[in-house]
Amino acid sequence: NQQLAVVFQPIVDLYDNNKMVGAEALVRWPQPGEQAIGPDVFVPLAEELGLINPMGAWVFENACQTLKYWNDSLGQRLWMSVNVSPRQLQDPSLASQLEAITLNAGLTPSQIKLEITESGLIEQFDQVAQLLNELSNCGFQLALDDFGTGHSSLSRLIHLPFNILKVDRAFVSDSPDGPGAAVVTSLSSLATSLNLETVGEGVETAAQETFLRQHNYRFAQGYRYARPLNAEDFLEKLDKQRNA
Ligand code: C2E
Ligand code: MG
Ligand code: MG
Repeated sequence: NQQLAVVFQPIVDLYDNNKMVGAEALVRWPQPGEQAIGPDVFVPLAEELGLINPMGAWVFENACQTLKYWNDSLGQRLWMSVNVSPRQLQDPSLASQLEAITLNAGLTPSQIKLEITESGLIEQFDQVAQLLNELSNCGFQLALDDFGTGHSSLSRLIHLPFNILKVDRAFVSDSPDGPGAAVVTSLSSLATSLNLETVGEGVETAAQETFLRQHNYRFAQGYRYARPLNAEDFLEKLDKQRNA
C-alpha cells in the first residue's frame, strides 16, 4: 500500500482555448533508482491476486483528496477521472463505497468521472448494468474508455448510462491520414446521436488536435498538452494557466 503513487494527466477543453478542465488519475509503482512500473504490467497482476479492490479504493481516495486540494487551493472546479477495473465491477458494494469516499473527501460524485473499458462490459452484463445504474444514480459520470478496441455489442451499450466516450489513442494517432481516422469521425457522429461528450486520447500533434476539433471533439488528452504529473506539478500548471 505504501509503495504505489498516483499521477495526473490534464484533460483540456478544445472549445475553450485548450484550458485544463479535468485530470485523469493514473497509478504507478515507483522503483528506487529505476523507472516506475506502469499499470499495464501490475494492474492485471493485482486483478489476478485479488488485490484490485483495495488498490482501486486507495487510488480513488488519493484522487479525491487531490482534487479537493486543487479546488481549495485555486478556487477552481475541475473534474477527476478515475479508472475502474472490470473486476471492481463485480463488487456489489462498489457504488456505496465510492460514494462514501467521495463525500468523506468533501466532494460530490458529480465531480468524478469513472472510466470503464469496453472489455469490462462483456462478462456478466446484467450484473454490471445494475452496478453502472447505481453509480450513475449516485451522481457519478461514466466514461467509456479506450473505445473502439473492445468487442462490446452496440445494441447492449446503448442501454447503459454512459455520459462520455473516450476514443482510443490508436485511432487518434492514426489521424488525420491513416485508416484509424475513419473511426475517429464515425465515433463522433455516434457520440452526437447518443448524446455523449467526446474525449480524444493520446493527442501528440497539432494535426491530430485540428482533426479532432474539426470533428467536434470537445475534450482532448495527451502528451501535446502534458504528460502525467504529480499533484504539485499539476497545481503549478493550473496556477500558471490562471495567471496567463
Ligand atoms: P488509459 O486509461 O487509457 O490511460 C491513458 C494512458 O495513455 C496512460 O498510460 C497515459 O500515460 C497514456 N498516454 C496519455 N497521453 C499519451 C500520448 O499522447 N501518447 C502516448 N503514447 N500515451 C499517452 P498509463 O498510465 O501507462 O496507463 C495505462 C492503462 O492502465 C490506462 O489506460 C488504464 O486502463 C490502466 N490504469 C491506469 N491507472 C489505473 C488505475 O488506477 N486503476 C485501474 N484499474 N487501471 C488503471
Ligand atoms: Mg482511462
Ligand atoms: Mg484510455
